[in-house]
Amino acid sequence: MWQKRFSHIYLEDGVEPYPLTRTILDRLPGATRVRVADYKHVFARRRQSFQAQKRSPKLILARKKDNWIYPGPRQSQDFGYRNFYYNSLLLNCIYNCDYCYLQGMYPSGNLVVFVNEGDYFSATKRAIEGRPFPEEPLYLCISYDTDLLAYENVAPYCARFIEFTRSQEELLIEIRTKSANWNALAEVSPCPRVILAWTLSPRSVIARYEKQTPGLEQRIRIIKRCLDRGWQVRLCFDPVLRIDGWEATYKDFFREVFRALPARSIRDASLGLFRMNADLFKRIKKQRSDSDILYYPFERKSSLITYPQADRRNMLDSLQEELEAHLPKEKIETWV
Ligand code: SF4
Repeated sequence: MWQKRFSHIYLEDGVEPYPLTRTILDRLPGATRVRVADYKHVFARRRQSFQAQKRSPKLILARKKDNWIYPGPRQSQDFGYRNFYYNSLLLNCIYNCDYCYLQGMYPSGNLVVFVNEGDYFSATKRAIEGRPFPEEPLYLCISYDTDLLAYENVAPYCARFIEFTRSQEELLIEIRTKSANWNALAEVSPCPRVILAWTLSPRSVIARYEKQTPGLEQRIRIIKRCLDRGWQVRLCFDPVLRIDGWEATYKDFFREVFRALPARSIRDASLGLFRMNADLFKRIKKQRSDSDILYYPFERKSSLITYPQADRRNMLDSLQEELEAHLPKEKIETWV
């Protein structure tokens, strides 16, 4: 399905020799190819419309020249791992959730795939060797600013990183997704140092604010299959949105999820309320008069915007109590 969306592929000078370039071009034989000297000439142009480009996105194949791995930001979920890092194998995402901060972060709605995977693997090995807490693994989120599994049929980065992780005993990776792309995982053996992390939301939130993503049933179905095969699975109830009737909606949703999934097999879960960098939020609001979710009377808390303190407390107390009825407290990481 995603293959058909990309009518054009931009090829940055120098990407041809990379095996991943060949794989992607073979998978998109009908797309018109356009050569560019530097991917930023297309991606970073001024006065582009993110949302207009999302309706007909172009694919850009490029090389990442530096920064193959970043230290994780402090306000992000580290699940207690002190050697927390992330990388950017893709810029942008094939989905287009109303609350996504990428709309404010990137000038373009086009998708960039960095094809020089070897540089990422070398940088990861160096980071493992130099990690500040050698008694703990390097914890690397590889689907941090994107949804890598959703795009696996075109750029098979998950499978490649899983194989790489198998060979690195001090590496633990997280692949976060909303995808139901079972075919991408069906032939891959589970690795105990790979966490497959699904973001789950109530049906009404998916239908209204996570357009284009798989429905709740589809996500639950793939999670079940992965659990049956022995994968490590994390559930991310994040971002929780303060929609009308939020309390009943989210509580019913938790009950439904844990009726369908065996709680004892879940590695851990996160519970987080909607929050976003204030500058990105300001930029996004200018482009998105069509989504009511961005027009709540939010409060600024340091560099973030989030729900007012009283709402946050009330939401977290109520939903945490419900979640703890299904999962032990020590398996839940919360974010307000
Ligand atoms: S799946 Fe995640 S990265 Fe992709 S559009 Fe939605 S919020 Fe953004």
